[in-house]
Amino acid sequence: MTDSDKTKTEDAPRDFIRELIRADLSAGLHDGIVTRFPPEPNGYLHIGHAKSICLNFGVAAEFNGLCNLRFDDTNPAREDEAYIRAIQEDVRWLGFDWGERLFFASDNFEQLYDWARHLIKQGLAYVDDLSPDEIREYRGTLTEPGRPSPHRDRTPDENLDLFARMRGGAFDDGAKVLRAKIDMASGNINLRDPVLYRIIRAAHPRTGNAWCIYPTYDFAHGQTDAIEHVTHSLCTLEFEDHRPLYDWLIENLPVPARPRQSEFGRLNLGHTVLSKRRLIQLVEEGHVAGWDDPRMPTVTGLRRRGVPPAAIRDFIGRLGVTKSDGLVEMSYFENTIREHLNPTAERRMAVLDPVKLVIENYPKGKSEELEASNNPTDKSAGTRIIPFARELWVERDDYMDDAPKKFRRLTIGQEVRLRFAYFVTCTGVIRDANGNITELRCAYDPETKGGDAPDGRKVRGTIHWVSAAHAQSAEVRLYDHLFAAEEPGKERDWLDDLNPGSLEVRTACYVEPALADADTAVQFERLGYFAPDPDSAPGALVFNRTVSLRDSWAKAKG
Ligand code: ATP
Ligand code: MG
Repeated sequence: MTDSDKTKTEDAPRDFIRELIRADLSAGLHDGIVTRFPPEPNGYLHIGHAKSICLNFGVAAEFNGLCNLRFDDTNPAREDEAYIRAIQEDVRWLGFDWGERLFFASDNFEQLYDWARHLIKQGLAYVDDLSPDEIREYRGTLTEPGRPSPHRDRTPDENLDLFARMRGGAFDDGAKVLRAKIDMASGNINLRDPVLYRIIRAAHPRTGNAWCIYPTYDFAHGQTDAIEHVTHSLCTLEFEDHRPLYDWLIENLPVPARPRQSEFGRLNLGHTVLSKRRLIQLVEEGHVAGWDDPRMPTVTGLRRRGVPPAAIRDFIGRLGVTKSDGLVEMSYFENTIREHLNPTAERRMAVLDPVKLVIENYPKGKSEELEASNNPTDKSAGTRIIPFARELWVERDDYMDDAPKKFRRLTIGQEVRLRFAYFVTCTGVIRDANGNITELRCAYDPETKGGDAPDGRKVRGTIHWVSAAHAQSAEVRLYDHLFAAEEPGKERDWLDDLNPGSLEVRTACYVEPALADADTAVQFERLGYFAPDPDSAPGALVFNRTVSLRDSWAKAKG
């Protein structure tokens, strides 16, 4: 390591994975480290995967190593080319670059087949005719040892012949498997002759129909790590019990490198689910609009919602890497998003539940261009022009009849500030036949232009508005937690925990003209952070609420 590398790693996060890598490097085990992110292309990436991505690409960068993007495409029954493309897009959007190091486990099928034959020749693997159910039954339990299959003592020659015929298509799906011959009495069930190959007739996204036998995760993963010269194979805790098998295969095969597997705790997030199986079900059963529904914890959903990738990286960095699974509160993630958007998101005005406000003493037909700051926390964000006129839209709940003293907004006789514009005093309301308010009537003070009174008098509140003649119509989609329960499925069926109020669509909103060409998340003053949705069309804007200004769930809980 050079001196500049040292400074780089001294500022870097410290955790047991990084300590282990540091120790391996100072022991001289490797010249440099290689990690990999190994998604199975059977679904979209979620924020749990983002943790693995940040860790694998993060440590590679910190130690001047390399990180591979490897598709673990060994189960064609559930995999799809569309997922392969989406996963690459998501990893790139998160801010990581694998350069030329894009690999597919399936590129190694021929090598893996050869290595399976190697095990057979050593007497370390055999073809078994037991059905999947029988294999399970013979395997025993945590308290009882397994029993040997009647086919366990086939000779290597017989096994080589049967294995070749498995490859050649001589047997039906599920009729035979190749198993490692390890120890049917092992305390670790993963070592009781685990299955290495099964017969699956399904077109593979890359190898098509070239194969009808496919290696299992256990047989493919470590060997692919070795082929790619991965030094540190980082995976989640559920693979801890597989590590002895991982090591057994590396030891018994003529692999070109000796990767080491280490396990870390997975990310679990409250009020959502992070399991591909469940996310697929949400999409297929129509509980959400798709993988990129902004309520989904998928990377593509978070992107559509307006979450900046830096907020995701920062959130994961703050959680750190530990040896245990934990449940992280959604509000912690949302706070990180607010922290990122507050200094960067430009301010705009939008009215989501509009009622007309008419300034009776403002000349009909007149309009003015007022200057508004784009971000009070960042002067360099500059200003924009907002049009002002006699008729405005304001929020319906910014007016109240017979308001209590602490109500600081519009009520008859009370003066308030229109943000960036003038002081107005409400003088009356107009109602329809049902008693619903159709208009608020006001008088303004022309001396208060810009929102300050020359005589120094104060107002109790400031409200946002848009000019009725200049506003753009918009649809605004308000999102809440996808699941009402913090841990879906803990008390009842997980689908019963879906939050029926997770989406509220407001179709009759008005936004200031500058929002017509918004291309990134902004803050709607007083309301929250919102991002333009791809459903937007010219004249038909759609915005997604990324996150509210404050944590309303914390408030609701008291
Ligand atoms: P799921 O459990 O959601 O179905 P998976 O583990 O089957 O996901 P893979 O495509 O195999 O999905 O995952 C790729 C990598 O991401 C693996 O190394 C896996 O350990 C890691 N990973 C998956 N979920 C999480 C999580 N919640 N937290 C951290 N890492 C995760
Ligand atoms: Mg997996």
